[in-house]
Amino acid sequence: MRYIQALAGALQRTRVGEIRLEERMSGYTTMGVGGLCRALVRPPDLASLERLIQVLGDLKVKYVPVGGGSNLLVSDEGFEGVIIATDALQEWEEFEDYILRVGAGVATARIVKWASGRNLTGAEGLAGIPGTIGGACVMNAGGRGGSIEDCLLRVDIVTAPPEVHTVNVQSEALSLAYRSSSLPAGSVIGRVELKFEEADQPGAVSQMVKELLDYRAATQPAGVLSVGSVFKNPEGDSAGRLIDECGLKGLREGGAVVSERHANYVVNTGEATAAQIRTLIGRVRDSVEALTGVRLELEVVTLGFPGDPPPAMAWVPSLSRAGGGVR
Ligand SMILES: Cc1cc2nc3c(=O)[nH]c(=O)nc-3n(C[C@H](O)[C@H](O)[C@H](O)COP(=O)(O)OP(=O)(O)OC[C@H]3O[C@@H](n4cnc5c(N)ncnc54)[C@H](O)[C@@H]3O)c2cc1C
Repeated sequence: MRYIQALAGALQRTRVGEIRLEERMSGYTTMGVGGLCRALVRPPDLASLERLIQVLGDLKVKYVPVGGGSNLLVSDEGFEGVIIATDALQEWEEFEDYILRVGAGVATARIVKWASGRNLTGAEGLAGIPGTIGGACVMNAGGRGGSIEDCLLRVDIVTAPPEVHTVNVQSEALSLAYRSSSLPAGSVIGRVELKFEEADQPGAVSQMVKELLDYRAATQPAGVLSVGSVFKNPEGDSAGRLIDECGLKGLREGGAVVSERHANYVVNTGEATAAQIRTLIGRVRDSVEALTGVRLELEVVTLGFPGDPPPAMAWVPSLSRAGGGVR
């Protein structure tokens, strides 16, 4: 408790934004599970974000940035560190030539709606993807209609301790690949710049967005607690197809179940613990490997599970990791 109070005092003195002590992470993830973090801090602007990372570095307190928590599975034990919640980074500026500069916490869905309302092409691939635009950059979010790569121009990143400052980098520097980026561990995207093009045909973008949303509605479970696809698709195949082929739809572990509608979704029926969800994911992975020889790779980022490495974007003082990134 003394540790928490000392941490709270240091954060308050540094003016880092709203501080929520001992916050339960289940309220910040679309899976609806997750135990306590030491503190969750919501910096409202880049300057506060920089101060926050600096003070956490000085105090040697580990941290993880979190956007919409739509690709994040947090353990029941939670996280013995600070969550940097980006949801208060809501700046929004429109420029000539269809350039949009937004805070990392802006909802991806808001950008898709803005662009499709103006018949601007570039963000259609993000239609139906929850979470924030910062999280979308880190995960290189996308689907059948394209990915964030199609409209990403550059990002402002606050670098990890000990050299904390804001750098503006071109999207190419993120080495975006299938659901991965190469951001250094502990760096946090604070602002994102996107570039769109006018579509040739009137109404083309909203039509494309509608088709992609219809496809999602027809193939994926809606209104459930999940993180979307749990596994990445292996080269030339689909994780959902493999899981289905192995007869794993409907497989259960307590309140966690493999969706009957889309085999790559694990759904929290409402009573699942994070441990049950993690166990079910492991069972699916092991069964698919035993039956097909394919070892599926996690797309979901896990936090606070014994045996799992810290998330690639976490800053852990005892680990000096070069590179990093979500891979
Ligand atoms: C129903 C459903 C459907 C989905 N469909 C798709 C889909 O079609 N395609 C797809 O790609 N994904 C999909 N997802 C997964 C998820 O929505 C995306 O990966 C999304 O872009 C994650 O954004 P987020 O803000 O929620 O990130 P979070 O889940 O909060 O974080 C994801 C990772 O990014 C890091 N991170 C987040 N914000 C920042 C930041 N500002 N700076 C540095 N690191 C950061 C976190 O530490 C974590 O490692 C789906 C999820 C759900 C629940």
